[in-house]
Amino acid sequence: MVEKGGEREGEGKGEVVISDYVRVTKMPGFSCTLCGDCCRNRVIPLYEEDIERLKSAGYEDFYESTDSIEFELTGAPYKMKLRKDGSCIFLEDNMCSVYEIRPDTCRRYPFIVGEDFILVSLSCPGIKWDEEGDPRPYKEASRKIAGKIRALME
Ligand code: SF4
Ligand code: SF4
Repeated sequence: MVEKGGEREGEGKGEVVISDYVRVTKMPGFSCTLCGDCCRNRVIPLYEEDIERLKSAGYEDFYESTDSIEFELTGAPYKMKLRKDGSCIFLEDNMCSVYEIRPDTCRRYPFIVGEDFILVSLSCPGIKWDEEGDPRPYKEASRKIAGKIRALME
């Protein structure tokens, strides 16, 4: 899922999106279509809290280290493991099997909301550009990555 305009990274199993966000001045509306696209062929950054939350629920072999570019863009030391078909290992029948304890990356998607900026993922079909949404529910889950992006903007 993520950060900075339109970059893609080949990883030998099709293209994986590490960046498809655009900055907006107003929060658009959003209604998830349940397409599951955000759970496939994405870099899904994981922070320490995400790892701890999933580990405390008994999951172990679900993460790997980010590479240097991914770390620079996200500030996340880890990312979700993907299956050979590019899907997140927690995606089952197009639904998240760990929804209640899913990572912050998944909680805030398709937005990154900082103190003074809003980013929207261009590839999410659930965005309603002609409506206005509320950024507040996405702020806490955006906190870590928003801090990183703020630093990159400066
Ligand atoms: S890509 Fe957007 S619409 Fe599709 S499942 Fe993810 S959040 Fe929902
Ligand atoms: S943890 Fe769940 S919501 Fe997040 S990418 Fe995986 S399947 Fe999708």
